[in-house]
Amino acid sequence: MAFLIDGKKISAEIKDELREKVAALKEAGKELTLAVIQVGNDKASTVYVGNKKKACEYIGVRSLAYELPEETTEEELLNLIAELNARDDVNGILVQLPLPKGICEDKVLLAIDPNKDVDGFHPVNVGRLWIGDKGFESCTPAGVIQLLKRSGITISGKECVVIGRSNIVGKPMAAMLLRENGTVTVCHSRTKNLSEVTKRADILVVAIGKPKFITAEYVKEGAVVIDVGIHRNEDNKLCGDVDFESVEPVASAITPVPGGVGPMTIAMLMCNVVRSEEIK
Ligand code: NAD
Repeated sequence: MAFLIDGKKISAEIKDELREKVAALKEAGKELTLAVIQVGNDKASTVYVGNKKKACEYIGVRSLAYELPEETTEEELLNLIAELNARDDVNGILVQLPLPKGICEDKVLLAIDPNKDVDGFHPVNVGRLWIGDKGFESCTPAGVIQLLKRSGITISGKECVVIGRSNIVGKPMAAMLLRENGTVTVCHSRTKNLSEVTKRADILVVAIGKPKFITAEYVKEGAVVIDVGIHRNEDNKLCGDVDFESVEPVASAITPVPGGVGPMTIAMLMCNVVRSEEIK
């Protein structure tokens, strides 16, 4: 039976460590503030924003919530970001995606001061990651690295295969595994003979966006399997990109969905907020 990598437990540990750090910063007279901007009232976004506010409250970070109407123009949003960029008391700025039609996401993400970009999406932070400079890191792949490290799984020297090349998961995941001295292969929709490549993996990270796509025939005996995917099936139950029942008997360790990678994303966002002082 595979070892179950417990994202709930590890994310709680991280948040408790951050809570202590925030308390120490407060003692030293430094209060941290995260500005969270939501435009419109996309239901899923409201849930994500609510969870981010709760996490701030738990670790002791002040959150400033901006709930802007659907009709907000790009200019109005850019003006708000400029105002928050200029405020010394704001350490992090997060714009919840997706944005309503008519607002260019790239333009908005580029407008955020890279030293307040706690999502790690700004090209400056992407560049910092690839060249090994200190910066804000994309939260989901940073969470995967923490899951591996805190479960005692060595990355250095391992064959690591990432399925997916998105800017928020696949590409930064590859950069982070490389930084940890893994031998990294990235697979994507044009990869030929996918299972031949994935079967080389000691560590397989799956971010393909297709429910239960990865079955045992893609996995080498004893591999560590990290499932980034998150989907809701017809019965309203959550599942990942990995077919857990099929893969679990083959893997040496695996993340469940829910309770694996999911809870790590917010923990790593909080980590970025707390690190904001180091990054300036
Ligand atoms: P995406 O759709 O942007 O990217 C999917 C990637 O999979 C693409 O790069 C594509 O090339 C690749 N792909 C598609 N079909 C393929 C195939 N047949 N063979 C090989 N590669 C193929 O998705 P994303 O934003 O990177 O997210 C991936 C998954 O992770 C989704 O299920 C998403 O919901 C989930 N996700 C979870 C979290 C979290 O906090 N747990 C955060 C972000 C994304």
